[in-house]
Amino acid sequence: MGLEQVTKALRNSLPSSNLYFEGEREYETLNGSYLSAMESDIRPAVIFRPESRKQVAKFVKVMKPFALGEHGEEATVQFAIRSGGQQPLPGVANIQGGITLDLGLLNSVELQKDGKQTTVSVGAGARWGAVYDRLEGTGLGVTGVRSASGGVGGLSLTGGVSFFSSREGFVCDNVLNYEVVLASGEIVNANEHENSDLWISLRGGGNNFGVVTRFDFRTFPQPGRFWGGSVFYFLSSWPYHVGALLSELRKKDAADPNAHVQLSIGYSSQFAQFACQSQLFYTGADANENMPDVIRPWADMHPQIEQLNSVRLMTLKEAVAEQPADAKGSVRYVIVSTNLPKYQKTNSPIRCAYMNVTVKADAPTLFEATEIFTSSLENVKSAPGLMSSLTFQPYSVNTLQQTARHGGNSLGLDPSDGPLINIMVSTYWQNKSDDAAILKYMNNATAYMRREAQRRNKLVPFVSMNHAWAHQDVIECYGEENKRALQETSMKFDPEGLFQRGVPGGFKLFN
Ligand SMILES: Cc1cc2nc3c(=O)[nH]c(=O)nc-3n(C[C@H](O)[C@H](O)[C@H](O)COP(=O)(O)OP(=O)(O)OC[C@H]3O[C@@H](n4cnc5c(N)ncnc54)[C@H](O)[C@@H]3O)c2cc1C
Repeated sequence: MGLEQVTKALRNSLPSSNLYFEGEREYETLNGSYLSAMESDIRPAVIFRPESRKQVAKFVKVMKPFALGEHGEEATVQFAIRSGGQQPLPGVANIQGGITLDLGLLNSVELQKDGKQTTVSVGAGARWGAVYDRLEGTGLGVTGVRSASGGVGGLSLTGGVSFFSSREGFVCDNVLNYEVVLASGEIVNANEHENSDLWISLRGGGNNFGVVTRFDFRTFPQPGRFWGGSVFYFLSSWPYHVGALLSELRKKDAADPNAHVQLSIGYSSQFAQFACQSQLFYTGADANENMPDVIRPWADMHPQIEQLNSVRLMTLKEAVAEQPADAKGSVRYVIVSTNLPKYQKTNSPIRCAYMNVTVKADAPTLFEATEIFTSSLENVKSAPGLMSSLTFQPYSVNTLQQTARHGGNSLGLDPSDGPLINIMVSTYWQNKSDDAAILKYMNNATAYMRREAQRRNKLVPFVSMNHAWAHQDVIECYGEENKRALQETSMKFDPEGLFQRGVPGGFKLFN
């Protein structure tokens, strides 16, 4: 009954060519295009793809009474908001039996000059590759992800780490303005001068306040090429690479703001082996043909799988091409597949999950996490298509200090706690029948890492929303004060709680 009414109301108000129903070919293509098959397993009744912010506003107005149950409890039909569909948590950007608002057609990318500052205005459904294409040859850079296919929308509402984050801060810290459709259907801007409480709340607050239709990002001079690439090696060299990262992050005169290093160990059931990757970047304007000293400790370290060393001068476009586009082409996959080129990619959909923990940059804590990761894997090692990895993503003190410089955010990270390491366990696998065992392995491993870090007094409450799983209370982890501020923003801009009750996916503010 509710669904019938909603469908009728949507058809009456919005172009029917932008509404896709179960069973239609376009519906199947769109619903099959999430990063993880676990998200594609969810079947909305209808997918709506707006072509303008006005259509988004109309959609919100039509949906509001149904999503809030104003037509009676049985008539409640909720909705989900999707941009890139790259966050793997099931139900975060899709909804069983409800309506999925897919922002993929809002994909414009425009440069705007305002005095000295050039901004790049990006439609919520664009991918980072399109943003980098637009910036090519302009001498400008932007804090986007390290993959061309990465979604802009979800990332810019949850934090996000870029090649440039050591110098420029988190991705969300670089959003100068969010254009938002509120629960009332009104379209507003949120920036330093207008609705500044909403602006700060959106910097980390996810889908709790409205549908963001456009993001205006700060750009910065990024002339020419920079140093980037990966070094691959085996587990025995991992302690050296971790030690080098900690030495750089804890340098007396501060870590180099132009250097960005991320370390991963991957395990593949196909090849029954561990392999490691250090991704290295030096993005200083002074980059020249000579490899900068700051990345030499990893780049020059031997033994390594020399034929896979890709560290070189590269453009932004080349840098993102290094990080393959989807789960099947993930970093973890590359570690093993480039080593064994005969391995053929399959077209079967891949299941995927991320969980994360944040700790101080402390060697015993990181080595303990490594031990937990490698030993916990035992129970699931033979699952078909399994690729599981442990990633150490640093938040340098300089990264953390950029938040205040750029106006603030909601993440609750304090530079005086830094440097920090976000530890992410990510897993890709083939069969639904392995879901429970794999999620149990990941949950147990990350819980154990948390406990051990806590025991050593090295745990930081922060959990990255972007890489979190359902049991992780992301909003609570931002701290009491930030949680309260987020709740106040919600009550001010969405007093009836449309984005709390009507959009159930994601990490909500009132539990
Ligand atoms: C190969 C690869 C490389 C990656 N590299 C990086 C990296 O370098 N750095 C990093 O930090 N992460 C990285 N990630 C993580 C990834 O970028 C994010 O998970 C992803 O970008 C999320 O954005 P999305 O637009 O796809 O979000 P979606 O999956 O579409 O949505 C995620 C959440 O945000 C909400 N949301 C999305 N858009 C809007 C909107 N417009 N308005 C309101 N709510 C919205 C949704 O409702 C949902 O709750 C990588 C992932 C992959 C697969």
